[in-house]
Amino acid sequence: FRRKSSTAEELVQGILKGNITDLSRAITLVESTNPEHLTKANEVINGCLPHANKSVRIGITGVPGVGKSTFIEAFGKHLTLLGKKVAVLAVDPSSTISHGSILGDKTRMEELVKDKNAYIRPSASGETLGGVARKTRETIILCEAAGFDTIIIETVGVGQSETAVHSMVDFFLLLKISGAGDELQGIKRGIMEMADAIVINKADGDNIKKAKLAKTEFNRALHLFPAKKSGWMPTVSTCSAITKEGVDEVWKTISDYLELTLSNAYFQEKRQEQNQYWMMETINEQLKNHFYTHPEISKHLNEKKKAVQNNTLSPFAAAMELLSTYFK
Ligand code: GDP
Repeated sequence: FRRKSSTAEELVQGILKGNITDLSRAITLVESTNPEHLTKANEVINGCLPHANKSVRIGITGVPGVGKSTFIEAFGKHLTLLGKKVAVLAVDPSSTISHGSILGDKTRMEELVKDKNAYIRPSASGETLGGVARKTRETIILCEAAGFDTIIIETVGVGQSETAVHSMVDFFLLLKISGAGDELQGIKRGIMEMADAIVINKADGDNIKKAKLAKTEFNRALHLFPAKKSGWMPTVSTCSAITKEGVDEVWKTISDYLELTLSNAYFQEKRQEQNQYWMMETINEQLKNHFYTHPEISKHLNEKKKAVQNNTLSPFAAAMELLSTYFK
């Protein structure tokens, strides 16, 4: 017995009523590579768009093992107890390769999975970060239309995915653990600059003292960065996702941030900028796809690559020849 598939309009109506099955179906359409599904997905997104936007979008990054899943479980539970509806999404382009997402791991979010005010969706798979990021952005819209007012987007602190997540959230949180004393080593300057808050996790038991030292060190380092356009001074705090100590403070920090940026209009300005950015990104992505899947291009690309390799053609000339074939 196969259920007749819902129309785009039916899905929109279901999502607006907070129907999770319809939400999941719509996300599956967004993630599909079938052009018919994509057309339908776009209809659903357009229907949801006027009802989206009323949320706070929080990005959480950190290297594997730092405690992201455990923290999100504790933080998410804290939020649902405050009466919030929490959606947890993930951006992990590597999950396509590893065939098993290391993010949005539901086994480490046992409580949150059971919570009727929480929705957890593992990362979309896709060949490119751009593709995964687009799907996540559209999923945010669907979740917001379904009534989720707090959207958490998790990503691993390696590669380019933090930048993509940073450009789709209001607040960016960097999760760290205290190390052997030299806390700043190996941390990319770019990530420090993106962070609105640094939270040092696993501040429990014997770790408490080290975590406090790390906090001082990060605070000192953050003061060396130029002031942010938002007027916000990034915070550093410690927490334990296991004992839950300090987890409530993270939400207080985010609330302070919202109060400031909503009153100085930075919040709205940033979302506008992000919308512009994603429009341009989508154009770039689609143009690139169209170019590389063009039959004349795929036919001649390898021979041009060889010519460049053999020094019989300059890289620039090779590119121009392919481009002129494409634009002909
Ligand atoms: P992720 O890879 O960043 O998602 O990290 P996990 O949430 O899977 O946590 C990795 C390991 O650290 C697990 O064994 C957790 O139980 C442990 N862990 C996470 N948070 C804490 C914490 O606050 N304190 C302690 N002591 N261990 C933690």
